[in-house]
Amino acid sequence: VQAYSVPFRGQSSEERGAVVVLRDVTEEENEDRARRDFVANVSHEIRTPLTTIKSYIEALEDGAIESPDHAKRFLSVIHGETERMTRMVSDLLQLSRLDSNREQLRIGPHVLRELVQNACYRFSMHLQGQDVSLSFEVPANLIVSVDADKLDQVFDNLISNAIKYTPDGGRVRVRAHRPSGKYVLVQVIDTGMGIPKQELPLIFDRFYRVDKARSRAMGGTGLGLSIAKQIIELHGGQIQIDSEEGQGTTVSFTLPVATGGA
Ligand code: ADP
Repeated sequence: VQAYSVPFRGQSSEERGAVVVLRDVTEEENEDRARRDFVANVSHEIRTPLTTIKSYIEALEDGAIESPDHAKRFLSVIHGETERMTRMVSDLLQLSRLDSNREQLRIGPHVLRELVQNACYRFSMHLQGQDVSLSFEVPANLIVSVDADKLDQVFDNLISNAIKYTPDGGRVRVRAHRPSGKYVLVQVIDTGMGIPKQELPLIFDRFYRVDKARSRAMGGTGLGLSIAKQIIELHGGQIQIDSEEGQGTTVSFTLPVATGGA
């Protein structure tokens, strides 16, 4: 708390009292610390792939380039890390646009089932080689008032997580229903590895990952859930995550129903 005190004198100039101003600076300090932490995190997250890229290039220079097998493998690591960095930079740019409200939502009425179907079809193409089933149950009459591109990104982030963290033999489902007149509840449910209870409160934080090495190895940026949360909240919705270690994870969020929608 910052305190200022100004003496208050009467006519005869004897001191009568003081005006004391107390200002709670906790919030400002917290924001300041959050900003510093964020910059430190960004620097660290960008330095990590750079270090990897540098060491693989050095190995190639030191002779690995002579072995076609090694050269191919090292180049593929360099390629993967470069792509992850590109993804990270575009995620960061998007977060900064969302933060500064520069991102105008283009809200319109959309048939939720079509949006979910498009997202699921896209993923079923990528699923080749991975034995995880992906399905959706969304009534055809749910019309939501959303920015379709932004919502698409939410589905992208949540479904890709569900698939990433679900081992072979598992199942990913997208469900939606309308529990009240005003909003629709959407859930992305997986039967994957789950998230330990103590990590759940931190899971929407930027760069927070239960297992950094695993997330990086899978090409993750640690920003997917924070972007999803920002987008849902910009639509006036809420998002939450429930999880049981070893059993699976459910991400649930709400979306506004389009007025006039059935
Ligand atoms: P990432 O790019 O690492 O996937 P996210 O912000 O999307 O970043 O997710 C943050 C972390 O939350 C992940 O690294 C992972 O540890 C955990 N997580 C997210 N979704 C799931 C899920 N469906 N099952 C298990 N863990 C998850």
